[in-house]
Amino acid sequence: MIADHRKAALNKLASHIASEFHSQNVSLLEQIAESEGIAYYFDHYENSFDGMLVCDENNHFHIHINIDRGNTQTSKRGRFTFAHELAHYFIEEHRIPLMKGDIPPHGSLHDFEHRDATEEEADYFAGCLLMPENRFRNIPTGRKFSLETILKLSETLNTSILSTVLRFVEIGTHEILVVVSENNIVKWFAKSKDFPNWSFRFKVHQTLPAATVAGEFFTKTDSKYTGIEDVEPENWFFPAWVPKTQMHEQCYYSESYGYVISLIWFD
Ligand SMILES: [Zn+2]
Repeated sequence: MIADHRKAALNKLASHIASEFHSQNVSLLEQIAESEGIAYYFDHYENSFDGMLVCDENNHFHIHINIDRGNTQTSKRGRFTFAHELAHYFIEEHRIPLMKGDIPPHGSLHDFEHRDATEEEADYFAGCLLMPENRFRNIPTGRKFSLETILKLSETLNTSILSTVLRFVEIGTHEILVVVSENNIVKWFAKSKDFPNWSFRFKVHQTLPAATVAGEFFTKTDSKYTGIEDVEPENWFFPAWVPKTQMHEQCYYSESYGYVISLIWFD
């Protein structure tokens, strides 16, 4: 968890940069890198990392982005990886140890399983850089929340689905819970501040609750439901009260990467 005051500082810096380099709703990452004299390379690095920031002996910075893991210059995933590496550059506490050689260059992964505070901060900063609050909130997405809302934002801002979902948790117009799973195992979750604070029927790194839409997808044949499903809170939680409105679950299935995103919300 990043402290609120730290988030505010990262958001302020990222939003300022985003306001200077954008074309309509899309942040111009190449221009940001060029303005700082950072060289960038979209190249083949096999399965080792998504992106990496390197400082050479002349204190010049280089960003390596791995095409072999789907990070092309125009792909949404590639753009997030680029923004994540720019974050390591713009956040002083990340850049200075790299310049001094105090820490070796490290590969970053586009998976949002927060392994350490540095990665979490870079993911957060990247989200702010690609999806500043004023742009995010001004995109018309209709009154009712659903997966469509996320897809619309992702298309308009040219941002990956995972990063858009996480940004929506932070600053979206509806309270949601997001659970990302793979092979029936929960990888991570995120929820809006105002979403009910109920105990979950799942734990990270353990199996999904069987009665959920995502759980059924992994355990029953012909159970790939893509629509908005009306579901019982008991499927996911130990509810502390009876909700006044209907709970929904809608899943996004990533063909390329094998993960499933469950969006959970109330009317
Ligand atoms: Zn990183």
